Amino acid sequence: MEGDWNVIANEQENDDVTASERARAIEAVSWAVLHGVMVSTMNTNGGYAHAPISCSPTEFPREAFALANDVAPAFAELYDKVSRDDEFLRQTLARAIKNDDFTAALWNVYEKSGGQKGRVNAEVAVLRSDYMFDVPSGLPLQVEVNTVSTSFMALGSKVSDMHRYLAVWAGEGEDLNSIPENDALASAADVLAQGWKATGSKGKVLMVVQPGERNVFDQRLISQHMFEHHGVHTVRATLREINAEGSLGADGSLRFRGDVIGLVYFRSGYTPNDHPTEAEWEARLLIERSNALKSPSVAMHLAGSKKVQQKLAEPGVLEKFMPEQAAQMRKVFANLYSLDGEEGVKAVKIALANPAGYVLKPQREGGGNNLYSEELRKRLELGGDLGAFILMQRILPPSHQTLAIRAGKLKKLETLSELGIYGSYLRVGDDVLVNKRGGHLLRTKAATSDEGGVAAGYAVLDSPRLV
Ligand code: ADP
Ligand code: MG
Repeated sequence: MEGDWNVIANEQENDDVTASERARAIEAVSWAVLHGVMVSTMNTNGGYAHAPISCSPTEFPREAFALANDVAPAFAELYDKVSRDDEFLRQTLARAIKNDDFTAALWNVYEKSGGQKGRVNAEVAVLRSDYMFDVPSGLPLQVEVNTVSTSFMALGSKVSDMHRYLAVWAGEGEDLNSIPENDALASAADVLAQGWKATGSKGKVLMVVQPGERNVFDQRLISQHMFEHHGVHTVRATLREINAEGSLGADGSLRFRGDVIGLVYFRSGYTPNDHPTEAEWEARLLIERSNALKSPSVAMHLAGSKKVQQKLAEPGVLEKFMPEQAAQMRKVFANLYSLDGEEGVKAVKIALANPAGYVLKPQREGGGNNLYSEELRKRLELGGDLGAFILMQRILPPSHQTLAIRAGKLKKLETLSELGIYGSYLRVGDDVLVNKRGGHLLRTKAATSDEGGVAAGYAVLDSPRLV
């Protein structure tokens, strides 16, 4: 296929790829480039490449997909309630605040900005609850709920569109019914714009981004949608820039480079790496003290802590927040264990008896932080204060064969998949104005890698084919 040399690399190592698979990959990459499934390559002169993608959707059980979607609004309500419960956050996070500098620094922003009293009485959220299908239980088990800087709403929507296109292109049109449509991009952009409007349509949206961000087009697609459909402009800035050029008006408004900011939307700020100096923390505090709507507020950010997830799993805790929906929500909870106190001693014993059956998680986001098997055993044997960790049952998803393409290179991989279900949520005062499921994302990773971050370079963007 010499005529296609400039679409995907012609590698010898792809001997196991058939001619029709190669043709499909070329069609996939072409669609991706033509429809903006792109990432920055951070060359000094600019530059972009297609995002890592799978060339076909991956099987996912239909009932599990439906259950994960059904519980999405309940989880949004739950996390908002948690974020408004000062006492619960304070008690649940006490040990993590003591043992983990990052949680402590976030808590400091929360306290210094006046806790619940200092908070704007509204919350707009694009949440993503992540699941893996657990073969032994036959259920979608929740890996975590992301309350800050959820990503891939835009690229994920487009990958669903791409897989639907490819099904027709390859003469598999009957598959269209099993590849669900995905409105994650529109859902996210619409709810953010609704939040901006509901709190006064002030000025612009400030998107907080990482320096050198690669996933810029996923973000810019949201900005473009907000502008086209709601007429609001987005400015992009790093925390450092906000610290240098942002200020608080006498009326409490946030100003940045001459603009009033109605909504601050975080696509950064979820890891210690995003706060290398005091300047970034000062920016967090400036934002939090202002009367701009935040997505998320620091309280909602804290509610997304892994320690909160573990606490909610304890008997009676979820039930207290969500008396009516708890039974349905419980179905998707994996076993979670505190590593505090006496219970912690028990949990360590359980895990050491079968290290491969558990995952040890610190209070971190962004992938690459969890400990498995041998590493988990070593860390638990080391002892010390484990209050900033939680222990989780290892979820055991089925494996699949995936034709994956990254940076123009085609690979056939043995893979595992993780389903993300987005939720769109808007509360103003005590009125919940929006609470609905907001599309989905499938991330598929090589079965040999324990972690699944697409941006971190281990995985491809995918979509589910319901079976
Ligand atoms: P992060 O906030 O870093 O994204 P996660 O809880 O999502 O943390 O864990 C990162 C990755 O580790 C997940 O995407 C998943 O691939 C894997 N993982 C996390 N928890 C489990 C679990 N209980 N069983 C199996 N794999 C898990
Ligand atoms: Mg995750």
